[in-house]
Amino acid sequence: MTRAYNFCAGPAALPEEVLKKAQAEMLDYAGRGLSVMEMSHRSAEFVAIASRAEQDFRDLLNINDDYAVLFLQGGASQQFSMVPLNLMPEGGVADYVDTGQWSAKGIKEAKKFGRVNVVASSADRNFSYVPEQATWQTSADAAYLHYTPNETIGGVEFNFIPETTVPLVADFSSSILSTPLDVTKFGVIYAGAQKNIGPAGITVVVIRKDLLGKARANTPALLDYQIYADNDSMYNTPPTYAWYLAGLVFEWLKAQGGVSAIEKRNQRKAEKLYGYIDASGFYRNPVQVDCRSMMNVPFMLADDALDKTFLKEADQAKLLNLAGHRSVGGMRASIYNAVPETAVDALIDFMKDFAKRNG
Ligand SMILES: *Cc1c(COP(=O)(O)O)cnc(C)c1O
Repeated sequence: MTRAYNFCAGPAALPEEVLKKAQAEMLDYAGRGLSVMEMSHRSAEFVAIASRAEQDFRDLLNINDDYAVLFLQGGASQQFSMVPLNLMPEGGVADYVDTGQWSAKGIKEAKKFGRVNVVASSADRNFSYVPEQATWQTSADAAYLHYTPNETIGGVEFNFIPETTVPLVADFSSSILSTPLDVTKFGVIYAGAQKNIGPAGITVVVIRKDLLGKARANTPALLDYQIYADNDSMYNTPPTYAWYLAGLVFEWLKAQGGVSAIEKRNQRKAEKLYGYIDASGFYRNPVQVDCRSMMNVPFMLADDALDKTFLKEADQAKLLNLAGHRSVGGMRASIYNAVPETAVDALIDFMKDFAKRNG
């Protein structure tokens, strides 16, 4: 068996060590004679798995007791509704930064619940940059400010944390755990797991505890953060296997030396790839240099008539899932934590060879 290099934007690559461990434990977890998938979520074994995962996640990001860590379903997309339902009062207003397609989806959903003030947008230059905070038009009475630190589709990443006096809410789906983070600057952080945490089906929410208990009166139980916080995220059956796998990823990340060690590796990977793209004269990246994403690297070929050939040959070379998002075309290499440096090296070698043959 040869494993391919997987550049998928999500569900994305998982560390091979994690998959092997899951495989080894699949039929018989810790001598109990059953798989984690078959356990009661109330069993001592699973409760231990769940709380260890939470603790490891807290350790990785230095999350203190002022914050609750919740494990939910519904993906990051469900957070687009949970955030306003829980934080925006009836008739209220919330501030949103519009830097791409994921911001736009959050904005569209929030409009169902109240007034949305878009403080700044990079639509004028095709979402290729982050508007400077000095230009933002914030509202005086916003319930919170929402932004997307890493736009997975456009490959645009904030190189600063916005300064706010209102709770800061961030969709970290595609960049959580890629770089150290000062969690105390945030009211709510959320991330769907399938990019940098684990398999699809589980979503992690970090919420400052004073923001709990503010949901609108008619909020369904399963959309109310407080219910999850009061029940250790087990008000109903949680996605147990995804939670277990996320825990294995956290363990793996700790063994790699934690988030600052993985950040160094991520920086090297990104620098190599952008460096090659910029020098190639054949490929190009459309994003303003100081806000290029460390995780998602879109690139275009000199002639887009070659896109199909590029993707076909890459696939044959076991470099998978390099097509850009269907809405933007071109290519995109997602180089999350679990994508090894050797994958980036192999991609660059392939790109060089392709450029030589087609340039
Ligand atoms: C993938 C992604 C989403 C959507 O996640 P789902 O789990 O499919 O709902 C939202 N925001 C960002 C930044 C993403 O990368």
